Amino acid sequence: MQGLMMDYPLTLTPILERAPKLFGNKEIVTKAGTTLERETFAEWAPRVARLANVLEKLGVRRGDRVATFAWNNARHLELYFAVPCMGAVLHPLNLRLPADQLAYIINHAQDSVLFVDPTLLPAIEKLASQLKGVKHFVVMGDTVPETTLAPVHAYEELLRGASDAYPFPQLDENDAAGMCYTSGTTGNPKGVVYSHRSIVLHSMGLAMTSSFGIRESDTVMPVVPMFHVMAWGLPFVCVMVGANLVFPGPHMQPRDLAELIQAERVTLTAGVPTLWLGLMNLLEHERYDLSSLHTMIVGGSAAPQFLIEKMQKQYGLQIIHAWGMTEMSPLGTVSRLKKAQLQLPETEQFALRAKQGLPVPGVEIRAMDDMGNEVPWDGKTFGELQVRGPWIAREYYRDERSADSFRDGWFRTGDVVTIDAEGFVQIVDRTKDLVKSGGEWISSVDLENAIMSHPQVLEAAVIAVAHPKWQERPLACVVPKPDFKDTLTKKDILEHLRARFASWELPDDVIFIDAVPKTSVGKFDKKVLRAQYRDYILPER
Ligand code: ADP
Repeated sequence: MQGLMMDYPLTLTPILERAPKLFGNKEIVTKAGTTLERETFAEWAPRVARLANVLEKLGVRRGDRVATFAWNNARHLELYFAVPCMGAVLHPLNLRLPADQLAYIINHAQDSVLFVDPTLLPAIEKLASQLKGVKHFVVMGDTVPETTLAPVHAYEELLRGASDAYPFPQLDENDAAGMCYTSGTTGNPKGVVYSHRSIVLHSMGLAMTSSFGIRESDTVMPVVPMFHVMAWGLPFVCVMVGANLVFPGPHMQPRDLAELIQAERVTLTAGVPTLWLGLMNLLEHERYDLSSLHTMIVGGSAAPQFLIEKMQKQYGLQIIHAWGMTEMSPLGTVSRLKKAQLQLPETEQFALRAKQGLPVPGVEIRAMDDMGNEVPWDGKTFGELQVRGPWIAREYYRDERSADSFRDGWFRTGDVVTIDAEGFVQIVDRTKDLVKSGGEWISSVDLENAIMSHPQVLEAAVIAVAHPKWQERPLACVVPKPDFKDTLTKKDILEHLRARFASWELPDDVIFIDAVPKTSVGKFDKKVLRAQYRDYILPER
């Protein structure tokens, strides 16, 4: 017997259409230089329709890829809906990728039109000769500045000449809506293609109270870039529920963010740990009224417990830890405590909140050992995390590496985890970052987080260095806070770690560096450090 419910396609179009009707006066705010630009959903929706007409005029057809090279801003949000709702595929490009990788992904995705923020033109000009399929460039401003790109148009001029009525087509929910490439720690980036259906379901996943819990009364500031897994899906869910959006544009320094939260009364924000570490350091010296914030989502790499704890205790700011991946749209787990866990002693609660949390409904998990057996949920046994669900990729876009990652209906994340009896996932490390010392594995993440909890440390990364006897041993690369540059010692760091780690887990050496290199999305880039210290000779222990 079949259910007798409507076969109603899950596409972005109804989300686009309901926003101006239900939430016409809600705002999209963009920081541009020293001013704040404002656009209501009532103004935004007709501009999305104009943009769809423009795209059609530029020759964009169903299934064509349209690239963006832009900061987080209102025009980018117009593209987020115009492109997929007219049946094309939105492809936000990572602003910080090296030129050769950018050219690779633009060509691999076969982008046919490229939208670019005026300040970012030089990066695209440099590549233009390598771009095979791009037929039009559109500068996201009022006029076209002096440029070598051709043919090139100004966004606002195109919009002025277009009708604000557009007959959005009936789409299949499995049609492609967007694509993002992983930032690719080895080899070329891999493409992930999201469908309308996956984005709609993922948006509902984000709106659930036990997940991000985003609703109409929120003012959401996505600090995570719109090119990084579609700003973790936040733009879509905000339009869906009618939340205000605040975009920082290129202004992402801790002071810019604090000012914006204060001025716009932001209630929820999201970004990688380095951002919130930066904000925490700012708050040590400067005062802001951040009382409007009820949730700061952190993800993308492991958030240290001391960050969650200090922000809560000292500044009353609630950091919620979440884990996800480009292949997962990205929502995977969220660390909100269960009712019974709220009765635990405070230190245990913070330890749980520092885990990556429970899989949200829609995401199924299991952890597997090397032999392909599922490991027990005991909070101790390591295994590789595998996932499946309706917003998780089933393969990469035209990429033979798919076979390594997608097997038997599961996606292999490459993350080593423990899962406890309550279902809380803890990421121990990425497979390639674990330090394999003799028969034992040492979590570089645990060591880093413990080192960063030292009050005189700004950042720390732990990498594996080859060792004649043990195969690999940990080397700690530490950045002291500016005031302690000349005084912090190796002994201080090791003393700080001794209470929490067995002696065989301690780093064999501690070196002091100026900064931890970062990836294009702001995570610690340990492959740079690994290359730099490949031949490092560790001292005798
Ligand atoms: P990239 O591979 O381009 O860095 P992703 O954003 O897809 O892009 O990275 C996903 C990976 O980031 C995960 O596999 C995991 O290793 C790491 N990660 C994401 N969130 C967390 C988190 N909360 N804690 C620890 N690691 C995380």
